[in-house]
Amino acid sequence: MDENRKKLVTILVPAYNEEEVLNMLYERLKKLMDENEKYDFEILLVNDGSKDKTFEIMQELRQKDKRVCYLNLSRNYGKETAMIAGLDYCKGDCVVIIDADLQDPPELIPDMLKYWEEGYDDVYAKRKSRDGETWLKKFTSKMYYKVLQAFTKIEIQKDTGDFRLLDRRCIEALKSIRESQRYTKGLFSWIGYNKKEILYDRDSRAAGQTKWNYKNLINLSIDGITSFTTSPLRWATILGIFVSVVGFIYMLFIIIKTIATGVDVPGYASTMVVILFLGGVQLIFLGVIGEYLGRAFNETKHRPLYFIDRYNEEKETNRNLNQ
Ligand code: UDP
Ligand code: MG
Repeated sequence: MDENRKKLVTILVPAYNEEEVLNMLYERLKKLMDENEKYDFEILLVNDGSKDKTFEIMQELRQKDKRVCYLNLSRNYGKETAMIAGLDYCKGDCVVIIDADLQDPPELIPDMLKYWEEGYDDVYAKRKSRDGETWLKKFTSKMYYKVLQAFTKIEIQKDTGDFRLLDRRCIEALKSIRESQRYTKGLFSWIGYNKKEILYDRDSRAAGQTKWNYKNLINLSIDGITSFTTSPLRWATILGIFVSVVGFIYMLFIIIKTIATGVDVPGYASTMVVILFLGGVQLIFLGVIGEYLGRAFNETKHRPLYFIDRYNEEKETNRNLNQ
């Protein structure tokens, strides 16, 4: 590396319908860039198929300031895919992933850079508080982390979003993982490397609406578990063995009882209970197996993860970047 060259820091912002906040975000980032002259900066805005003026605003920002780059995806793919698209196109020696809505304070970036210089590869921001979120969301999120952690040996970082700084080698690692149903939070843990945690207070959204609803969250949670661990399948086997053993003992008991005391007609209730219970358990685990089968099906199609409409002023075809 050329010793005199300043290090390039990419700030990666996935954005979906964020017309109300983009200018504000740019102002905050501009201040940050001006205050940190030690580095060169690139702001990479990824427009994830927004239906409002987000893309126009990105173009205007680039006209004003060439440090702003943008990537326009061909439709809305979801934040996970928007992030990998951004990683594919980022040029920096490191990248900071940040939400467009200013819930992640950009003022934390100099701290992250400081730890990066000390040799950490993945500096992630952990939330001390979550302003502007309902107790139900906080509670479900807490329970979810517990469940996910119970399922897997790899340590999951609690209360950590995607707001983090990643060294080039983490970027390359994440880029090499081309699964289509991505659960990036899990991948950050999975790739390993030197991690450093910093604490912060999460602000409320600066403007606009959250794009998440419970349907998305449930989907993301199921993706999280099924993409990360196959232990639900193991549990199915264990429960199956347990139920069979109990069933077998009960069968022996009934045979012996029938021989000893003769035929016993009443028993409708217990039969129904057993049938319903086993039916339920079987359906649940058919569902679990189906989840994994579905994932395998989607991954074997080997589709590109996304298509790009434009990278800066250029119209893009997908080139080789996105196998
Ligand atoms: N986002 C995206 N594509 C989507 C949904 C969201 O790129 O389909 C972006 C969104 O613009 C924001 C970030 O992901 O920058 C986080 O979204 P949001 O603030 O709605 O989620 P929350 O903070 O409520 O978890
Ligand atoms: Mg948000």
